[in-house]
Amino acid sequence: MESILNVDDYTPGRYARTKVLQQAGFTVREAATGKEALQQAIEHQPSIILLDVNLPDMTGFEVCKLIRKDPKIFGTTVVHISATNVQSHQVVEGLDCGADSYLVEPVDPMVLIATVKAFLRARQAEEALRRSNEELERFAYRVAHDLREPLRTIITHTQLISRDLGPQLSASSAKGFSFVIDAATRMQSFMEGLLQYAQVTHADEQIGPFDCERMLARITADLKATISASGAQITHDPLPEIVADPGLEQVFTNIISNAIKYRRESVKPEIHISVQGGGAGWIFSIRDNGIGINPLHKVDIFRMFHRMHGREIPGSGIGLALTKKIIEAHGGTIWVESEPGRGATFYFRVPKIPVKLAGEITPPSSPQ
Ligand code: ADP
Repeated sequence: MESILNVDDYTPGRYARTKVLQQAGFTVREAATGKEALQQAIEHQPSIILLDVNLPDMTGFEVCKLIRKDPKIFGTTVVHISATNVQSHQVVEGLDCGADSYLVEPVDPMVLIATVKAFLRARQAEEALRRSNEELERFAYRVAHDLREPLRTIITHTQLISRDLGPQLSASSAKGFSFVIDAATRMQSFMEGLLQYAQVTHADEQIGPFDCERMLARITADLKATISASGAQITHDPLPEIVADPGLEQVFTNIISNAIKYRRESVKPEIHISVQGGGAGWIFSIRDNGIGINPLHKVDIFRMFHRMHGREIPGSGIGLALTKKIIEAHGGTIWVESEPGRGATFYFRVPKIPVKLAGEITPPSSPQ
């Protein structure tokens, strides 16, 4: 049974609304203050919160902002209800605080019930989509995981057989063997990419101190061979220690490796990493002087398997999709700016207080 949290400090109004909803078959819980509303929401996880705009301890807008920050309830549908006539800018402010709708009293009981039902339909559709995405991801994980072992066997034994046969092999058979090994190795890196991608949702977030300078030193050590073969120069502004999941290292690795991989012919890669931390988030940028990205592909390159290149540059098209997923798991966003032929700059923003910790900030409790 879908439950509704009815928040209003005016007892007769709250009572009347509860009755209307109960008669329509909904389970209704009540709260009279912002603090009570947050506690009830966390404890009972209602589908919809009907939130009075004027509460004694904080405004409904503030309650809504705190709901959106709490990982346990951030997805709950919030409908503001104002007892007094409001101006358009107040409705806009209420919606900008994260509410899904704004009703003004007197609300006809039939309109209230129809509104609640409409939001419940939307939630059910969202839930079905989320479940089907999860199933699809579990399926991809299972397939990639289970095919890893047989693939490794194919590669190892094909290599052994071709080595054993050695000089007895005709030129065309030797070529055939190398095609098999090549294809199986490509498939292997594709499977590894898929596994990494699926694991972002399954991974336990181990949020903690994350020293970006140390991370960069590790990445340049890991990519030492590629960096020296390409003559790449990697420079950076002073980088901060932030709070993040260790998975963020993969983001820097993917973008830096791509900056080297998609270099211009006969132009040594120059990569510069900057950071700005003026607001509530860190904005990192990684600029390169490579082949650049056609603006038409600016969004699509973050989609799974989307590549702008053929076999001449090896890759699976998973790296940036994985990068985006890790950034979004941090509550951040990623984008790219580029002029084809003049390099690309990847930007990503991560909150200074990660989503997981944001919920631990306690709401103000003293009446205003
Ligand atoms: P992959 O490199 O395996 O193809 P990615 O998901 O890492 O997959 O990148 C997707 C596509 O985005 C690449 O195929 C490439 O066309 C483009 N791309 C990524 N990074 C850059 C870059 N720094 N400069 C130019 N193109 C890039």
